[in-house]
Amino acid sequence: MANFQQLETKVIIIGAGPAGAGTSFFLSKHQIPHIVIEKEIFPRDKVCGDACSGKTALVINRANPDWLTEILNDDERFMPSWGIKFVAPNGKALDIPFSPKRTEETKAPGFTVSRLVFDNFLFEKMASPYCTIMQGAEVNTIDNTGNGVSVLVKHQDTDFKITAPIIIGADGDKSMVRKKYLNENVAPKTYAVGLRAYYKGVTGMHADNFIELHFLPEMLPGYLWIFPLPNGMANVGVGILSERIREKKINLREQMLHAIKSNPQIAPRFANAKLEDKIQGWGLPLAIERQPLSGDNFMLTGDAAALIDPFSGEGIGNALYSGMLAAAAIKEAVEQRNYSSAFLKVAYDDVLYKRLGDEFKVSATLQRLCKYPWLFNFVVNKAYKSQSLRDTISCMFTDMDLREQLSKPSFYFKILFNR
Ligand SMILES: Cc1cc2nc3c(=O)[nH]c(=O)nc-3n(C[C@H](O)[C@H](O)[C@H](O)COP(=O)(O)OP(=O)(O)OC[C@H]3O[C@@H](n4cnc5c(N)ncnc54)[C@H](O)[C@@H]3O)c2cc1C
Repeated sequence: MANFQQLETKVIIIGAGPAGAGTSFFLSKHQIPHIVIEKEIFPRDKVCGDACSGKTALVINRANPDWLTEILNDDERFMPSWGIKFVAPNGKALDIPFSPKRTEETKAPGFTVSRLVFDNFLFEKMASPYCTIMQGAEVNTIDNTGNGVSVLVKHQDTDFKITAPIIIGADGDKSMVRKKYLNENVAPKTYAVGLRAYYKGVTGMHADNFIELHFLPEMLPGYLWIFPLPNGMANVGVGILSERIREKKINLREQMLHAIKSNPQIAPRFANAKLEDKIQGWGLPLAIERQPLSGDNFMLTGDAAALIDPFSGEGIGNALYSGMLAAAAIKEAVEQRNYSSAFLKVAYDDVLYKRLGDEFKVSATLQRLCKYPWLFNFVVNKAYKSQSLRDTISCMFTDMDLREQLSKPSFYFKILFNR
């Protein structure tokens, strides 16, 4: 018969991916005891493009600057990335550096790393006197207790009943916390679907490890990506809106393999490349419109909160960032002993949307614009000939006000008339 044990803590976190780890790092900084429950055993894989942006670096640096230094000095496992290559539907390529004014001292703004490695890196960094981790643990039920939550978990040969004033859903796209608290009350999430394949020996990569987005006409408003990884590996995949797959009855796997075999620009680069693992798919819950992120005694972070950038598909940075903001909100909630939905909405939802809401809106508009291949071709053709336009687009990666220009008709009129 299994043993039974009761535990009490300040915060229960379900899931130890970037969202859970991000929450845990900052709870430990705020000296708040918490228990992280994870169903897998690390290191574990996650289907992803494996590209980490400046936002990922920013949160890691805030959690502990030594961790970022460790990443930037470990080129066996982490590959620094200096820019992005856009390939327009007409096949024209545009190289956009992330740091147009790069000097000797400039650090790479982004990096690529397999999620097997990266998530395990984050997982190991959670170790702290304030953090208890149960991995390989199965959550059976989540119940409200009146003034908090209780979770029944089976871990090794013990059944635990864990109680806390608040629970954090960091349990990814198929979140059980979201299902329990939100699903009946909000519109379904807007989804994209992605496939990931690991190849060895893809040629023609940029010398500064630019990540590549190929906006092939048959995939708009989605794209095929080729992201270089250490040790001659590449993460290759496709991401596309679920509604488009349904509408056009697209077989995503066939479409990706067809592009790799037959696209005149892509195929020669795969002539001697070898598929190293099976092709795997997973959903991307997109941040298209504002949804509730919290309620009485709970908060959602990362994919459980549907925070993936609708244009780029970036979710790791937003998962870590939302974890950081969730921990700050919990600190206030603990101090004021207030875990009500009204309190958490102000302390968490409003803060998150104030920081990321504009970015989501701009990205949602850009995603819609990508439906029009002629517009994409037009911008890339112009930028191809104009250094100043290339510099403007380059700055858009770091400057949200500039990026917003991209989503406005006036931007295209200005390009049209060369202003
Ligand atoms: C094909 C594809 C490509 C992508 N490419 C990129 C990219 O290049 N860059 C980028 O930034 N983002 C990318 N994303 C998005 C990114 O993968 C996610 O946004 C990110 O993983 C979200 O982190 P998370 O911690 O919220 O969720 P996850 O990383 O999914 O972590 C959730 C964790 O919760 C655990 N869990 C789930 N249920 C339970 C349970 N009941 N009990 C206990 N534990 C549980 C899981 O085992 C998992 O460890 C991509 C996504 C896809 C599908």
